[in-house]
Amino acid sequence: GNPLFRDMPTTVFEVMSQLALKHKSINLGQGFPDDRGPPDVLQAAADALLNGYNQYPSMMGTPELRQAVANHAKRFYGLDVDWAREVLVTSGATEALGACLFGLIEPGDEVVLFEPMYDSYLPIIKQAGGIPKLVTLKAPDWSFTREDLERVFSPRTKALVINDPLNPVGKVYRRDELELIGEFLQRFDAYAICDEVYEHLVFDGAAHIPLMTLPGLRNRCLKVGSAGKTFSLTGWKVGYVTGAPELLQPVAKAHQFMTFTTAPNLQAGVAYGLGKDRAYFDNLASSMQAKRDRLAAGLHDVGLSVLHSGGSYFLLADISSVGFDGDDVSFCLHLTEAAGVTAIPVSAFFAETPVRNYIRFCFCKQDSLLDEAIGRLKRYF
Ligand code: PMP
Ligand code: GLN
Repeated sequence: GNPLFRDMPTTVFEVMSQLALKHKSINLGQGFPDDRGPPDVLQAAADALLNGYNQYPSMMGTPELRQAVANHAKRFYGLDVDWAREVLVTSGATEALGACLFGLIEPGDEVVLFEPMYDSYLPIIKQAGGIPKLVTLKAPDWSFTREDLERVFSPRTKALVINDPLNPVGKVYRRDELELIGEFLQRFDAYAICDEVYEHLVFDGAAHIPLMTLPGLRNRCLKVGSAGKTFSLTGWKVGYVTGAPELLQPVAKAHQFMTFTTAPNLQAGVAYGLGKDRAYFDNLASSMQAKRDRLAAGLHDVGLSVLHSGGSYFLLADISSVGFDGDDVSFCLHLTEAAGVTAIPVSAFFAETPVRNYIRFCFCKQDSLLDEAIGRLKRYF
C-alpha cells in the first residue's frame, strides 16, 4: 500500500468508539447525536425512497437539493448563489473536503491550516502533494495573531483551510479574525476551504459568519456544509459545497471519480429540511446550548476544569489538575475502563505542537445519558 495510508493509525473516532463498545462505556467521544432526527425530514426521505428516487441523480446533486442549498445561503447569510453552477452535493462533508483539496491543490502548493484541526485534512493535503503550513491556536481562547499569518503565508500559498465553529474546541471565529484572514487571502491571491459543518450550532446568541460573506471573498471561498450536523443525521453522509463556478469546477471533477453521486432519497430529505422554518434552526442551537451547559456543570462538579465552547458538539476539559500520571491518550483509555465514560484525546487534533492535557467530550446526547455519565464520573473521582 501507499505508505502514507498504510502506516497511519486508524482515526481516533473509530478507535475510541470501538473501545467504548468493548467496555460498555458511555460514548461521549465521537460526535453523533443519539436522538432520531427531525421526523418530517425522515418522512421526506422515506417518501422519496418509496416513490422512485433510487437511481443515479446528477453528479452535481439533485436540482431540488442544490436549489435548497442556494436558498438556505440567501436566507441565512444574504448570499446570492446560482444553484445550477455554484452548488455541488457530496457524500458528506468528508468527501466535500477531499474533493476541494484534490481539486485545488497541485504538488508543491502550500496550504495554511490552524491546529487543533479535524483529522481528515492533513492526509488528503499530503496525498495531493501539498505542503501544510500550520498556525497553532493559543489556549484558552484559541487565538492567533497577524505575525502568525505573516509566518505561514507566502507566494506559494494556494489555499487556507478554516473550520468555523472549530471542532474540537468550539471556537467561533470573530469578524475581526475573519477579516484578518481575508486580508491575507487577498494579498497572496489564495483560496479558502471553509468547513462550516457546525454553522447552525453556534451558542449564546452569536451568529455564524461565513468567510465567504466578507467583502472581496465571495469568489475565493468554497463553503462546506453537512446535513449530518444540521439535521442530527450523521449517518446520512450528505454534504454540500458552495463556490464560484471556476472554483467549483475542479472540485466537481475530483468528486466525479470519488463517489460521483449521493443517494437521491437522502438528498430529497435534506432538500426538504433546509427549507424548514427558522424555529427549527434556532431550537437546534438552543437545545444544544442547554446540553453544553448541563455537561459543563457536571464536569465542573466532578472537579474537571472545563473550557468555554461557543459552538459545535464539543467542549474540552483540562486534565492537568486531576493528578493523573500519563497523557491525554492514556487518560482516555483509563477513563473508559475505570469510569465507563469515553472521551477523545485532543492530541489527535495537533500535528506540530505536543498538546497532551485536553480531552474532548461530546454533549449532543439525551440529558439522561449526560447525567448518567456525570454520575459515573462522580463515583470514579
Ligand atoms: N468536518 C468537521 C469539522 C467535522 O467535525 C466532521 C464530522 N463529522 C466532518 C467534517 C465530516 O462531516 P460528514 O459526516 O458530513 O462527512
Ligand atoms: N466529526 C466527528 C467527530 O469529531 C467524527 C466523524 C468520524 O468519525 N469520522 O467526532
